[in-house]
Order: sequence, then structure tokens, then C-alpha cells
Amino acid sequence: MGNSQEQSILETLLFRLDSSDENLELVTIQEIDSWPTGLFDTLCREGLLAPTAPSSLFTCTQCNDPHSEEIIQVESPPGSEPRLYIQCPSVGRIRVYPEELRQWILVPEGWAKLAGRLLGISGHSQADIPGRVWRMGVGNLGRVNREVLLVRGLSWVDGQSVETRIAGVTNSTPPALVLPQELPNSSLLCPIPLPKVLRFVDGEFLLDRTMLDFITASWPTVAPAYTRTKVADDFHMSEDSRTAVLHGVSYVLTPRQAQVVDVLYENYKQGMPELSQERILDRIGSESDKLTLRDIFRNSDAWNTLIVSGSRRGMYRLNI
Ligand SMILES: [Zn+2]
Repeated sequence: MGNSQEQSILETLLFRLDSSDENLELVTIQEIDSWPTGLFDTLCREGLLAPTAPSSLFTCTQCNDPHSEEIIQVESPPGSEPRLYIQCPSVGRIRVYPEELRQWILVPEGWAKLAGRLLGISGHSQADIPGRVWRMGVGNLGRVNREVLLVRGLSWVDGQSVETRIAGVTNSTPPALVLPQELPNSSLLCPIPLPKVLRFVDGEFLLDRTMLDFITASWPTVAPAYTRTKVADDFHMSEDSRTAVLHGVSYVLTPRQAQVVDVLYENYKQGMPELSQERILDRIGSESDKLTLRDIFRNSDAWNTLIVSGSRRGMYRLNI
């Protein structure tokens, strides 16, 4: 479905939107010139592409080897309008014109807005994690109303912490996650990979409803029990959380330490054993104090025994 050339450009742009290589977010005028008529105008009108600073590199077209070179500015005679060149090893100096250096950047907010409109979502999109997660509003998907988020870069090195953070802010109905790319081997509950549902037909963006229904049909309407009520076997806390007992060893905690353990255990029970330090401090309301978890657990037996580092830098969990 979809006319082939536009569709394949669209898929490439979505791939680039999800890339951690910032250069791939940029689209050059040469590339745009090779596109079918109308596509560029539509992308700009939808706010998916926006003009950005001119390129500092130019790809040589004068020899048989397409190489990219830094732009050289020459002001000759002095005081005249600077002229732009690149140096080609086989042809020599090649003049470059400013209009050849124009480029555009992919705008994630624009893609969130477009997806939101096509999915019939009410509400305004707003950044939740800048550059990575946008709350698009609430939509009826997979038989219930649920929050819909655009999430970018789940496969980047810090993707796991973004995923944990999303899980940490959602309630019992799992949110729909609109993704620029399909993630193979992902355990996400409700993903909508845009390349599977977004179509460009006759100059318009459309949603492949059949594909969307197929994707959402198997979605859970509530978070599965195993992720909601996981309980540790050999871990207990006193009513006021000031004493924690792990494998028969008691830890007496300060009120602030108790809050940290509470937050971690609460999330553990929701199936999210690891939280970022930032999130923990935010939850206990001490992010502004410039305290670290290490400060909070200074001289405490619980540090590195009850509270341990997670699988990634800056992540922590209970050792249960
Ligand atoms: Zn060349």
C-alpha cells in the first residue's frame, strides 16, 4: 500500500528520526530535489521538516568519487562578498553557492502531532522527556482510552532508562507507544511502529486502519498481573518503612532512606525493579537539594547491600 517512492522516502525519514546520529536528522536540498513533486511541501506544511542552519559540508559532484568536504570561504579582493568553495583532490577548487547548502531538520513534535491527529487523539502534545518522549493525549486504542506517547530512541544506549521512566509514570492501563521504528525483540506492551501504519497516498498522510486494528487487537486493557503485583519472597518492611528486613538482616533507616526504599519497592511491585537516581530523588521531593543517593545513605549498612546499582550507570534497585 502507498505509492512506492514516497512511501520508501517516508520510511527512510522515520528511520532517521529514530537514529542517534544527529547528522541523519538533517535533509539536504540535493536530497529534496530528488524527491517526487509535492512531498517536500507536504512535509513542511505538516511541520515534519523545518529549515535549519546551512550545511558546513558539501558533496563534490565534479569527479567520480562523491566525497564530502568542508566549505572554504574566500574573500577576494578583501572587503568583497565572500565566495564559497570546496577542494576536490582531482578537479581542484569548486565554487559552491549558498542556496546549495540549505538544509532542513526532522521535527519530532511535528511527527507526534501528525500521528495524534491521524489516531484521533484529543489533547495537545507536550514533551515529557525533552527530545525523547512526548505525551500526545488520550485516545481510544485497543478497546479502551489510554495515554498515547511518541517515544524516540528506545534502541539508544539509554533506551532502557527511558522505558523504565515511561513505565514509572503510567497507571494501570498501559499507554500506547508510537515509535518511529519497529523494535524487534521488544517486550513493550502496546507499541505502534509508524512505518507499519503511516501511509503517504496522493499527497496525503493516511493511517492504515486494518493494520492498526491488527496491532491493537492483542493489547492488554490493564497491565498484566505479573507486572503489577510482584512481591519479593524474603523482603519485609515495617509499617512505617523505617525497618527493612532482607534475607533475615535488618536495616534501620532514616525517614529519607525509608522514602527511597519505599519508592524502589513500590516500582519493583509494578514490575520495574530499576529506577534512575534522578527519578528517585524527584519522587521523594529532594531533587533540588543537590543530594545524591550516596549522600542519603552515607554511613548506612544498607548502601551496596539493600540498595545496589542497576544494570546501567545511574540506575538503582533493591537487592531483592
Ligand atoms: Zn571531487
